[in-house]
Amino acid sequence: MKLNLILVSLYFVFSQNCLASEYIAYFTKSIDKKTIHHQHTKVRRIFGPHQKFALLESNKSLDDLRAILKKNEYFKHLSINSQINLFNEKELKPILSKQKLKQVIKNKKVNGYWWQENISLKKAHQIYQGDDRMIVAVLDTGVDYRHPDIAENIHTNDNEVPNNGIDDDNNGFIDDFKGYNSYSAGGSAMDDNGHGTHCAGIIAGNGKMTGVAPGVKILPIKFLNNYGQGDIAKAIEGIYYAVKNGAKIISNSYGNPNSNEAFLEAINYAKENDVLFFAAAGNANNDNDLRGEYPANYHLGNVISVGAMNSNLHKSSFSNYGQLSVNLFAPGETITSLDVNSGYKVRSGTSMATPMAAGVAALIWGNSPELEPENVVEILVKTTSKHQSLYPLSQTPGSINAEYGLKNMTSPSKLPIPRSSIMVQEYILNSETPYQNNTNRPYLVSKANVKMMALNFTKIDIENGYDYLQIESTNGKVLKKITGRISGGITDFFPHNELIIRIISDHSTAGQGFEINKIKYVVDKK
Ligand code: CA
Repeated sequence: MKLNLILVSLYFVFSQNCLASEYIAYFTKSIDKKTIHHQHTKVRRIFGPHQKFALLESNKSLDDLRAILKKNEYFKHLSINSQINLFNEKELKPILSKQKLKQVIKNKKVNGYWWQENISLKKAHQIYQGDDRMIVAVLDTGVDYRHPDIAENIHTNDNEVPNNGIDDDNNGFIDDFKGYNSYSAGGSAMDDNGHGTHCAGIIAGNGKMTGVAPGVKILPIKFLNNYGQGDIAKAIEGIYYAVKNGAKIISNSYGNPNSNEAFLEAINYAKENDVLFFAAAGNANNDNDLRGEYPANYHLGNVISVGAMNSNLHKSSFSNYGQLSVNLFAPGETITSLDVNSGYKVRSGTSMATPMAAGVAALIWGNSPELEPENVVEILVKTTSKHQSLYPLSQTPGSINAEYGLKNMTSPSKLPIPRSSIMVQEYILNSETPYQNNTNRPYLVSKANVKMMALNFTKIDIENGYDYLQIESTNGKVLKKITGRISGGITDFFPHNELIIRIISDHSTAGQGFEINKIKYVVDKK
């Protein structure tokens, strides 16, 4: 009997999900429920800037529903309300035991970590530490706003009576006393996961742990639940809340591989209101130039995509990268910051690098409030510490530096190749697959009038240790030798306009060869 009941309820849940999907429609004018109502679609709510977004539930397909909505002259676009998750987190070093951590905190050793030194935080704080006119929104799982290291820095809405179920200040949001919970459409943004609290601590920790900008205010917004799951509509509502309540910067440590027009619209609204949007590049060691990661890949000018770097000044093994799509790097490994229940925790990820970069931007902007947002980005990028190892992994092969940023000082090292001179072209070249025994087969990659060239492999599958793939110059010099199975990636730039890729195999082979889909090059300006 009991099992039957469970099966029936499961069927009910599944059948409901299969029948109706959630969509977000955007209109160029404020709308009301009646104007978009029709028999196949339920309007769940109208929301967002100027009430132009509608969350719809419909059993129609995306295309069919779009065709229906197009009859409304103010309809602009329709997208799926997809799920958004936190990235998989990388535990690179065993997290300190509670006992050990207690000891560390007792001895006040929470500070003095590699990243604080790396971004030259001490020297930066001698100049400026941030002030409460600068509000940074953390769009995440919420923030434990009772944590003694951040409590004083939480933006508080004094016109709202907490937990009375009433929108006391009539700003359109119920019980938004300490930030806002857009996940459950009401209440303060208390964290029940820990991720958001960690990010907020990196920006504005001000106790045993010192954040990048301990003088600024954090506006916590919870759009992800305790499992780190939310959706596009909740994120849009969060962005709207942040912009409407004075945030100048929004820090975003989450992502999804699908681009979404409604989300893009919301970030554009932030841009129109001079709000910067920092976004984590992602933790899958992917090239974001080839496979998108959103919101990091929305190229709107106010979106800054941040990769993670380790204490050896190399890209973190997990961090996504992208010569065109990732703007810069920041420390993102073994970062100690705050945890829920007044705790502390070590975490690694582009999730940690992102609030760190946002924090430096908050220092630069807070110290020079007259700057336009694009100037803040310009200074942030210009004043990065340049690292050869980060080239060609981001637009600026460098990582944030708080001291240089505040001094508006270009770091002494120079870019190996100016980013603006790099071009990309689709270039499909596949080896025979599988490749032959006892082969020595060259494949030519050629592009006229280029000074240097890098190859983007989408697959390399060469019998490990027995067969080889060699990249050679046309006069026979071996530039790079590869063996084994690699998911792909971009090579260094080679100073040639022609390259040979040669597969050399022994008498028995077990590999599929290689695939190239793009080349990047620098034009020879004579
Ligand atoms: Ca309110």
